[in-house]
Amino acid sequence: MDFLKRQAALRAHLRRQHVDAMLISHLPNLRYLCGFSGSNGLLVVGPRQTTLFTDGRYREQARQEVTGARVVIETKGDLWRAAAAELGPKQRLAIEADRITLAQRKRLFAHWKGLHRLVLTQGWVERQRVIKDADEIAALRRAINLASSVLEATLARMRRGMKETELAGWLEFSLRQAGGEGLAFETIVVGGARGARIHGQPGPQPLPRRGFVVMDYGVRLAGYHSDMTRTIHIGRPTAKARQIYQVVRDAQSAALAAIKPGVAASAIDRAARRVIQKAGFGAYFPHSTGHGVGLEIHEAPRLGATSQDLLQAGQVVTVEPGIYIPGWGGVRIEDVALVTATGAEGLTPTPKELLTYGL
Ligand code: ZN
Ligand code: ZN
Repeated sequence: MDFLKRQAALRAHLRRQHVDAMLISHLPNLRYLCGFSGSNGLLVVGPRQTTLFTDGRYREQARQEVTGARVVIETKGDLWRAAAAELGPKQRLAIEADRITLAQRKRLFAHWKGLHRLVLTQGWVERQRVIKDADEIAALRRAINLASSVLEATLARMRRGMKETELAGWLEFSLRQAGGEGLAFETIVVGGARGARIHGQPGPQPLPRRGFVVMDYGVRLAGYHSDMTRTIHIGRPTAKARQIYQVVRDAQSAALAAIKPGVAASAIDRAARRVIQKAGFGAYFPHSTGHGVGLEIHEAPRLGATSQDLLQAGQVVTVEPGIYIPGWGGVRIEDVALVTATGAEGLTPTPKELLTYGL
């Protein structure tokens, strides 16, 4: 990862905004700018120097991970005081207004008398993170391939009467066994009518004797997140089940085909939604079509009806239309796609045919 290049790009932005330094507190942004993956840290990007402040628990980790920043281990326990001491008295300072609490702001001003020179910002580092560099795309590919690779073996463990939580557990164990450093988010495994819960939590309910099971899961690897959903069918699918699955699949294909640089992110949502509406299920697709993914599971751009984002080459987004019918169940298919110079490259290798299992 080229941390110095990322810091240089941020410094250029600071200069354009007539800001001398930026105090960064959002942890994924710290990781992006200097490699630090600990749970407590502050980064000051000054005109010439970058300094990471963390506590004694991370001494060894910071020494190994951090590139392009001086590391200060704060032993008295107040990173905000330590960071304030680093700031020049006359500097115009940018902070991440949407990432800082009132209590933290108070601590900063207890030690730095520059309130009138404070610049409240939002999304300055996140804007850079929207376009993934080659190292990031490689990391995302590794996470996505790992998650895809465990699905088949996990499904082979399904037994009649198995609880949703148990299937979710096997999925999570397999991700860890294959080297995942953590889950990307809380695994979703919901069967039968419970599949209509878009963000349902796996429960003690047994897998259905006949019906869909929605599985939405992901792994974190080197800080990067995967995100995929497959919906499988237990028992013989009805004509309605086959139809709904095909509509969702067609909606996803339409959205993927619409992706290319310069296109509005809202147009991708429209492409998927049109297919579902035409089939008469428009009322049953209540969420947006996708989101960016990287050091965070949900990041820009947002592929929704009201999104103002424009697609650009190097963005990595999910495409995840679904149909959810209360009392009946749900179907969602989710893949990750890379926006290329001419279109989209699907990164999720798992096939999308309707898989049926007899238990
Ligand atoms: Zn997902
Ligand atoms: Zn997603």
